[in-house]
Amino acid sequence: MSHYDFVVIGAGVIGASVAHHLAALGAKSVLVLERSTIGAGTTSQSSGLLRTHYSVKQNVELARSSWWAFNNFAEYVGDDEASCGLVKCGYMISAPDGGKIDPLRASLIAQQDMGIEVQLLDRTEARERLPIAQFDDAALIGYEPEAGFADAYLVATSFARAARRQGVKIMEGVSVTGVVREGRKVVGVQTSAGSFSCGALISTQNIWTPEMAAWMDVELPVKPERHTVLALECDTAAYSFKMPAFKDLGSAGMLYYRSYGGSQMLVSEGVVGETLNAPETEQGDISLDYVGEVGAQVAERFPAYETAGLASSWTGVYDVTPDWNPVLGSVSDIEGLVVGFGFSGHGFKLSPGVGKILAQHALGLPTDVSLGPYALSRFASGALLVGKYGAGAVS
Ligand SMILES: Cc1cc2nc3c(=O)[nH]c(=O)nc-3n(C[C@H](O)[C@H](O)[C@H](O)COP(=O)(O)OP(=O)(O)OC[C@H]3O[C@@H](n4cnc5c(N)ncnc54)[C@H](O)[C@@H]3O)c2cc1C
Repeated sequence: MSHYDFVVIGAGVIGASVAHHLAALGAKSVLVLERSTIGAGTTSQSSGLLRTHYSVKQNVELARSSWWAFNNFAEYVGDDEASCGLVKCGYMISAPDGGKIDPLRASLIAQQDMGIEVQLLDRTEARERLPIAQFDDAALIGYEPEAGFADAYLVATSFARAARRQGVKIMEGVSVTGVVREGRKVVGVQTSAGSFSCGALISTQNIWTPEMAAWMDVELPVKPERHTVLALECDTAAYSFKMPAFKDLGSAGMLYYRSYGGSQMLVSEGVVGETLNAPETEQGDISLDYVGEVGAQVAERFPAYETAGLASSWTGVYDVTPDWNPVLGSVSDIEGLVVGFGFSGHGFKLSPGVGKILAQHALGLPTDVSLGPYALSRFASGALLVGKYGAGAVS
């Protein structure tokens, strides 16, 4: 049986990032096992938004360190030709009078206290940045210039390429089918390509994490939740790359927006989606009623979009935990197992930072950001990781 010091299950953006960081931190023997192809899981469905705006402080820290990686990507992965497809358009977030004002204000102040550049805009300034929108109801508007969006698939494949360059072996088309244990210690994996022994196993299986739960007979709470993304085209009000990504806390669907391809609008809801019975990334049905419902909210904020056309649409699946924050670290008393799952629709922007701290933890090094708040045990103890917004993808 071949031996690797570290085996990573899954080559989504998180697993690929873990593999890169393990190698960058000095690990000499790393194997990544991916059932499909690199980045083909939920990573390929991501909207790609990058911001540090969160109300959970640890998420802000992880997003900030990750932003540095996105903003200096070629240097970060040590490849002059690497690109993450970053569009540095900034991120605007607004709330009308009501329940969202206090969490928004507190989160913006907390970001500023952490040294992150965040500006408060009045309605005129907001319109100057996003002239296709109206802000008549906006009571508080925040703007984060160092933000934008990037390409999650490109980031996953770039991390994987960087990992391979540093000696990591990545096997695609190989399913992990079980875990080899000696008592409570993980010592290897069974796969469709035979068994491998390992010193430590890192599971980044996203919506397929319940497989690991069954193999280890532990509870790893995560459910697959389908979300819909629409791309709208409006001849008279193009959403250009210069216009910021935008979060509308005043809309019923907590909609988020960004440019798509430099002229279309990408829009999606930030509320609870459709819970699936089993983990799968097949495309779901998108009804015309649904498009009409979201379209009406879009037109309230972007009046010219009253007559916009639907250019394309797709669905993607979130791995949602009970508090919409990830589980990172070890699993109870099991030795040799590290997990990173439950990104609940906001894992891409954290992927460099998460990959690094999971790699640090697996190597027995101090982590840049404490894993404590992300511990699995929080669900049993009731110390859920919830910020001022409550559970949700802004978190
Ligand atoms: C519609 C949508 C929009 C989003 N928008 C944003 C956004 O704007 N900003 C943001 O920050 N985040 C966003 N996200 C979230 C972000 O994209 C995800 O958190 C991130 O891509 C998850 O990466 P991952 O590596 O955990 O999962 P995945 O990419 O799903 O990778 C898991 C991999 O594990 C493999 N695997 C599982 N089990 C096994 C096994 N037994 N053997 C071998 N391989 C296995 C799978 O094949 C898969 O490739 C969005 C997600 C969706 C769906």
